[in-house]
Amino acid sequence: MKRAPDPLIALKKEIAAEIKQVYADLAEREKTSHAFERNCTGIAECCHFVLTGATPYLTEGEALVAAKAWRASGRTKLPETDGDRCPFLNEARKCMIYADRPFGCRTHFCDGAGGPYARRDLIDLIQRLEAISLKLVKGKRRGGHGGHHGPIPLPTAVGEALNEEGGGRQKNAF
Ligand code: SF4
Repeated sequence: MKRAPDPLIALKKEIAAEIKQVYADLAEREKTSHAFERNCTGIAECCHFVLTGATPYLTEGEALVAAKAWRASGRTKLPETDGDRCPFLNEARKCMIYADRPFGCRTHFCDGAGGPYARRDLIDLIQRLEAISLKLVKGKRRGGHGGHHGPIPLPTAVGEALNEEGGGRQKNAF
């Protein structure tokens, strides 16, 4: 007998596309408003959580997009770090999922680059991310899967998303 398609797979595709549209809309906004002018020199200081004292928090939808990007590169496990830097930062200080990096990585600049974007300039996009994530969480719960709604730290959020897809954490992968 032919198996019915898993509705969660279709939902995840839809969610990933919607999250990427939010990122694209942010990029459009950056082109047209002075409020988004920054001078990032790509030193990746903000990717060293120990230096900034801040870890990006991800909604479940953003974690899904980051996990998909990681898996698309042929990797299934998240490298372990000591928590001092992002697991996606490589030895050359480059983000390994740059095109699909989370919203916080696109909006939270270090002081040297001009500081984070003002929340008032992003609130509609933040609300969209939350609404998309809630749709994913509800879909997962309907299917008997767990799911967190509120944003959680990047390593945990992406680790959980990878675990769902059959991946996990990998020691000393750098
Ligand atoms: S996901 Fe990429 S941009 Fe964001 S903190 Fe990690 S390495 Fe930096």
